[in-house]
Amino acid sequence: MTVTGPVSQDDLGVVLPHEHVFIDLVREYRGNGLLNDEHLACAELAALREAGGGTLVDLTLDEIGRDPAALRRVSESTGIHIVMGCGHYRDPYLDREWFDRMSADAIAEEITRDIAEGVRDTGVRAGIIGEIGADRRYISAAEERSFRAAARAHRRTGLTISTHAARWPVGLDQLALLAEEDVDPRRVIVGHADSVPIPEYHLALARQGCYISFDGIGTGSRYDLDEAKRYLLNLVQAGFGAQILLSHDVCLRDHLRAHGGCGYGFLITEFLPMLAAAGLDEAQVRGFVTENPRAALTGQP
Ligand SMILES: [Zn+2]
Repeated sequence: MTVTGPVSQDDLGVVLPHEHVFIDLVREYRGNGLLNDEHLACAELAALREAGGGTLVDLTLDEIGRDPAALRRVSESTGIHIVMGCGHYRDPYLDREWFDRMSADAIAEEITRDIAEGVRDTGVRAGIIGEIGADRRYISAAEERSFRAAARAHRRTGLTISTHAARWPVGLDQLALLAEEDVDPRRVIVGHADSVPIPEYHLALARQGCYISFDGIGTGSRYDLDEAKRYLLNLVQAGFGAQILLSHDVCLRDHLRAHGGCGYGFLITEFLPMLAAAGLDEAQVRGFVTENPRAALTGQP
């Protein structure tokens, strides 16, 4: 399900599974944390299309400025398919009083409505649950309720769950909590795995069967990029290549090409060739941005 309606999985093309077209992270990053310029967004996504991109998954949630109607307009004008997220972000952004008052089931009902009917009165339907966040090394009380709600919405709708897990070892705790709610780890994407510089942790996640998302590609330093490549090769060598997902997590102004950043096309034009140069075969490299994210989104390997 995209912001313009259902799209066949054969038409997704190259998929970026963890991005943000519009976002408000001003409380952490001041002006750099505000992506709200629709014309600029169109130009950046046009460049993605030029680079060979087909689909972008936008994981911005209401706490950080989700704008379904604007996503639909940008998708229509650029031809990039956009899959929109739903659910709740990480703790400092959560309305704790609201979480205290709401049961996990009531929250799940709201998420299910976003998926089945659309967000508010826009008619735009979510196509993935996430990014469901845990801010720290552990899952907070409000976040636990958010994860249980995401799990129950997943069980009602079948949509994939994508998480924010930037600290060790919270991705494993997320999988354990979701398993308590009967979610198959193979339907979960653990996000920001490249933020944790521990290859053994990536392997521990992979052994659970989830997708491992290295989604800071191009938005960090050259060193970060080499490290991401090392983590990826480590998983491939251990036989977990089909569980690897790649994305940029564009979320700041200086990530955009217009402000000197990597933009949304970097992965295709720069990182995939780096992987091929490291000795991986072309078909496998291509699979990281086609077969893998397609299977992750649809649940059909
Ligand atoms: Zn993100």
